[in-house]
Amino acid sequence: MKIFKFGGASVNSVERIKNLKNIVQEFSNEPLVIIVSAMGKTTNGLEKVVNAFYRGNKDESLELFNIVKNQHLTTAKYLLVFKYNDCVAQLNDFFTEVEWLLHDKPVRSYDYYYDQIVCIGELFSTCIISHYLNEEKLTNQWLDVRDLLRTDNNFRDAGVQFEYSAERIKQAIKQYQGNITITQGFIGATDDNESTTLGREGSDYTAAIFANILDAESLTIWKDVEGVMNADPKAFSDAQLIHELNFNEVIEMAYYGAQVIHPKTIKPLQNKSIPLLVKCFLDPQLEGTIIHNKLVKNLPPIIVIKAHQVMMHLKTKDFSFIGEAPMSQLYEIFSVLKVKPNLIQTGAISLQLCLDDHEEKINQLANECSILFDVQLEKQLNLLTIRHYNVEIMNELMANKDLLLEQKTKETLQCIYRTT
Ligand code: ASP
Ligand code: MG
Repeated sequence: MKIFKFGGASVNSVERIKNLKNIVQEFSNEPLVIIVSAMGKTTNGLEKVVNAFYRGNKDESLELFNIVKNQHLTTAKYLLVFKYNDCVAQLNDFFTEVEWLLHDKPVRSYDYYYDQIVCIGELFSTCIISHYLNEEKLTNQWLDVRDLLRTDNNFRDAGVQFEYSAERIKQAIKQYQGNITITQGFIGATDDNESTTLGREGSDYTAAIFANILDAESLTIWKDVEGVMNADPKAFSDAQLIHELNFNEVIEMAYYGAQVIHPKTIKPLQNKSIPLLVKCFLDPQLEGTIIHNKLVKNLPPIIVIKAHQVMMHLKTKDFSFIGEAPMSQLYEIFSVLKVKPNLIQTGAISLQLCLDDHEEKINQLANECSILFDVQLEKQLNLLTIRHYNVEIMNELMANKDLLLEQKTKETLQCIYRTT
């Protein structure tokens, strides 16, 4: 059993869906579970629908929803011949599910409505793709993952109930005679049948859960890049492909802000030593990257730049040392506000925190900290991380930068500098 995950970019046009079919065809004589995201920027479009609805703007929300609807109907029209009517009938059921909700007034939390509306993007994409594959003789079963993946009701960041989900998923795969199953990433449901989502870009995570539960031989994530690179190719023209990586390295990269793979994806795979392949859907012959449990030596420097950083300078009010008491109070504040500093530097009477610039969170944190410390903020900063750094790369990347802080371990160098 193999698991494939296709992200939004790999299904954002009629051509790309045909390309997906060509890839699936190559593997169609073995058991395959295909997890698909919403097409292109559909999730962003649906977020706009939620926002309008929650502001009480019913007409606007319906109009915005119409745009998303029509995009999908157009795609279905260009892709399908015999299965068109069946597909549209199923899409209509989903449309009704959302429109029915949009006619009401919001009485529950924003996050609740977000999940009820946004989850539809993955249902649309998989519905169209499943019908298309069937039409192309790639017989498959379509599953509504909300019947299988049980979560808590922490809307927009739902936690998966593994045991229950495992039983349902295994059963759904076992009872099907054919090879190909297609279902949605990113979404699930509570035991009250309310839809939930697992956090933006969560389809990778869904795919890893399926791989774990089904003891898959591998998970392949199909992307528009050659594989995992040692730097963002948009910022570094000489970025190199890394052919082989260890799970731990990928966890580190994700932690420092590399947008390779959703960070939650690794654990379910690592626990069962299931290799993760990152491959290019534009050229499936390319080798891509394999990520596994084995030790990988001689990695090139891996560069991650996180923009929109804030540095918070904290200083004790009475020039007393920063001891365990203020430290533990500070960590208590982090835990209450759910903030994770990207870097912390402690001195005798002062302390620096580097954080993502989420304005509301930063203001709350600054407020809380001002009870204990004098607080100063510095904005418009970048955080550069280099794993496996060497002198050349340090000199190259840190030259002419307005550096504010630098931290080094044997493996990792981090520095904060002003955005110019
Ligand atoms: N469609 C969702 C998103 O755009 C999930 C995903 O793509 O993984 O965040
Ligand atoms: Mg996506």
